[in-house]
Amino acid sequence: MEGVLGGGPPEAADVVVIGAGQAGLSVAWHLRRLGLEPGAGFVALDRGPDSGGAWQFRWESLRLDDAHKVDDLPGMREMGLSFATADPARPAREVVRDYYERYERWFGLNVVRPVRVTSVSDEGTGLLVATDKGDVAARVVVNASGTWARPFRPYFAGAADFRGVQVSTPEYRSAEDFAGMRVLVVGGGTSAVGFLRELEGVAASTVWATRRPVGFVDDPQAGVRAVRRADEAARAGLPLPSIISGTGLPATPENLAARDRGLLVARPMFTAIEPDGVRWADGSLTPVDAIVWATGFRSELTHLAPLRLREPGGGVRVENGRAVREPRLFLAGFGPQASTIGANRAGRAIARQVMAELGTGA
Ligand code: FAD
Repeated sequence: MEGVLGGGPPEAADVVVIGAGQAGLSVAWHLRRLGLEPGAGFVALDRGPDSGGAWQFRWESLRLDDAHKVDDLPGMREMGLSFATADPARPAREVVRDYYERYERWFGLNVVRPVRVTSVSDEGTGLLVATDKGDVAARVVVNASGTWARPFRPYFAGAADFRGVQVSTPEYRSAEDFAGMRVLVVGGGTSAVGFLRELEGVAASTVWATRRPVGFVDDPQAGVRAVRRADEAARAGLPLPSIISGTGLPATPENLAARDRGLLVARPMFTAIEPDGVRWADGSLTPVDAIVWATGFRSELTHLAPLRLREPGGGVRVENGRAVREPRLFLAGFGPQASTIGANRAGRAIARQVMAELGTGA
């Protein structure tokens, strides 16, 4: 993909978009549609080597299926492209990388990569976006940096002394890496379920531990409620709740069958990790060779630290995608927007507010 100014970021742009995953591309598309040109109008910077946001790094066996549905980006249909009709046999990471790359070209979004944003600071009249390829002066910044690089692993006594293998979701490559091992999967989300289903028959055994009891639900309103809870937390500047804790896991025939044959039956969390296994509340020990931590993610916001956005409650206050403490900063794909459908809708709402902030109307 071609960048602007010979492959590096420009020295100034009205709007800098940090990250070109679903959220960043959606914002960029809407900004373009509202009249901003790539380059002096807006520039999207991404540290990844390729298109696809975090999807380009997901494990090979992950497919777009019932559990993993990616919403189309705005304007994709006019290209004759839709994830709904993508080849279900192709790895999701390939499909998304391919479709996003074509999308960026088709709409001339000129994402500049690889460029890592290291900090955003207040320069009085504007914001200074520092990168590993030079600084960019911006009037408005849209942060769409996602969560992939910040997997969350809960603290457990003894974890450092565990003699087996420990990986978090972004490090998981394939079930074959765990062939013949006794594997503990931790976490109550879709990733954990996917890992357990892949490991069945490849690992010697699996055991599943979750913080809360697992429910398989068929409730279309569950997602709406979970998003509302995330929105309330973002508005209050509180740590964001896990979306899956509000939605439950999908009651697909595959999941229900896996539950009935004993694969997807979760135990409450263990109390300690020992060198050769985990200790449960009843005092028993399960020996394991590997622990897969599918325990969620946190927003990647360290580069925004100079703006001092953190509230005493530990979160960042965000209303309708805008940082309450810094009105020139928007957060796309954050909190209630942290899914592909949420990220998409946010793109439109944020782009309109950005145009208003620039004083050009929307
Ligand atoms: P990302 O896709 O992570 O994009 C952020 C981009 O910002 C990345 O390209 C990154 O390189 C870049 N970046 C970050 N920091 C910097 C920096 N400092 N400088 C420059 N660039 C930076 N959601 C769904 O709707 N459907 C699903 O099926 C689904 N499946 C999922 C499966 C897994 C395993 C996980 C972990 C999440 C899943 N999600 C799913 C949620 C997922 O977060 C969204 O689908 C979507 O990828 C989020 O898009 P995004 O643009 O916010 O973030």
